[in-house]
Amino acid sequence: MDQQLIATLRGIVGDAHVLTDGDLSAYEQDWRKRVHGKSLAVVRPASTQEVAAVVKACAQAHTPIIAQGGNTGLSVGSTPDSSGQQVVLSLLRMQALRQLDADNLTVTVEAGMILQTLQDTADKAGFLFPLSLAAEGSCTIGGNLGTNAGGTQVLRYGNARELCLGLEVVTAQGDIWNGLTGLRKDNTGYDLRDLFIGSEGTLGIITAATMKLFPQPAAQLTAFAAVPSMEAAVRLLGLAHQHLAAGLTGFEVMGKFALSLVVKHMPQLRVPFADMAEAPYCVLLENSDSESESHARARFEHLLELAFEDGCVLDAVVAESMAQAHDLWHIRESIPLAQAEEGLNIKHDISVQASRIPAFVEYADAVLLREIPGVRLVNFGHLGDGNLHYNVQVPEGQDGKQFLNEKENLVNTLVYDAVAKFDGSFSAEHGVGALKADKLEHYKSPVALGMMRAIKQALDPQAIMNPGCVLKV
Ligand code: FAD
Repeated sequence: MDQQLIATLRGIVGDAHVLTDGDLSAYEQDWRKRVHGKSLAVVRPASTQEVAAVVKACAQAHTPIIAQGGNTGLSVGSTPDSSGQQVVLSLLRMQALRQLDADNLTVTVEAGMILQTLQDTADKAGFLFPLSLAAEGSCTIGGNLGTNAGGTQVLRYGNARELCLGLEVVTAQGDIWNGLTGLRKDNTGYDLRDLFIGSEGTLGIITAATMKLFPQPAAQLTAFAAVPSMEAAVRLLGLAHQHLAAGLTGFEVMGKFALSLVVKHMPQLRVPFADMAEAPYCVLLENSDSESESHARARFEHLLELAFEDGCVLDAVVAESMAQAHDLWHIRESIPLAQAEEGLNIKHDISVQASRIPAFVEYADAVLLREIPGVRLVNFGHLGDGNLHYNVQVPEGQDGKQFLNEKENLVNTLVYDAVAKFDGSFSAEHGVGALKADKLEHYKSPVALGMMRAIKQALDPQAIMNPGCVLKV
């Protein structure tokens, strides 16, 4: 039966694009190398019609399909299990630009296009495609939509869902739904597009998308500010919203311990205010301006004056050049690497509404330090979106693997219970995947879970689309 399916798949996409042996680890293990699966085959179709034929063949054989883009997902959603019975459907050969409509400010691309290629395509045409994240050189638009990716510009432009106008999808039955549209208004029934976005390959395969483009800003300025508390950081956010309005395109917070890891492991980076005793947090702000650099600078300086008067900023630097701005962003983006250099840690990608973040952090810090003395809390992230990477570093001097074996579940429970207490989400950006499917069962209401299961049953009654991802089987 397996051999028959493999022969059918070879007939659809060609022998060279059905991979069954050799080193398939790029497709079979997740980005953080925690899970090593084994597929029946990796199939690489080149067109929507080929995707549809592959899905039909798999559906007939009752064989599960795992959609995969760049395989940079952080929730173990894009790799097969260890059964050797699942087909990985890689979209990486589908990278075409189908249409760029300058008057409608939209671009239609195939799902396997790399995010950075789309950013460059938009840039060459004189536009901005604002989705931006550290994996942009490898992740795909299909994966970005599959996970509803966020990144650094959500505050101004929204996440992948808000950037998408239309989709083309191959359903679990192998039918092609052409929902590619550049319409900004369309109230004709249930929103199928939004159903597929963020569904992590569990309802169908996204094969193409129409995405929004934006005018490029005339100037972009970055500031780095030391703040006396998380409350002050949130007050600064409020002032920035008020005085920069739509110009505010980035607002990142970094805890002192997170910055100290950057200082320790990346001594070549100059971290402003890292040794300032009265500043437990620093904030990175980005102001994009449609007029000019001098206009942007004047607005930024006015904002910082007000912030100094308010007391929510202790000290600040504004980058003098793009190179300096890049260096400041590099500090923020280096925190995950610095954490890895320091040793094992437990990552969380949570959200709580911004106004409640100070109370959440105070509460969660106290609970963790009380229950697991010695843990080191690495706190940073997209404060403008209420999205924190509230990570837990193994206590100094302790064996990392042993600590994770003994304490990882407890740490996760303490953090996610705290998030639930503050009405937050245990996954702000990275999705549920297989990694957190049990958390979904625990933290979502029975009514919400019931509706999700009904949707899954209606669209994928055989449960062949990424089984075990999002909803437990
Ligand atoms: P994959 O990893 O291949 O797949 C992810 C999920 O989407 C899987 O469930 C898969 O089945 C599904 N999928 C993939 N393609 C399709 C398709 N065509 N149709 C339907 N479903 C599909 N994420 C953020 O949101 N914000 C960040 O700031 C961020 N930073 C990151 C930084 C680094 C260094 C890394 C490694 C990851 C980061 N991520 C971030 C996570 C990851 O990059 C995103 O989730 C990205 O959107 C995944 O894209 P991908 O093409 O790699 O998808």
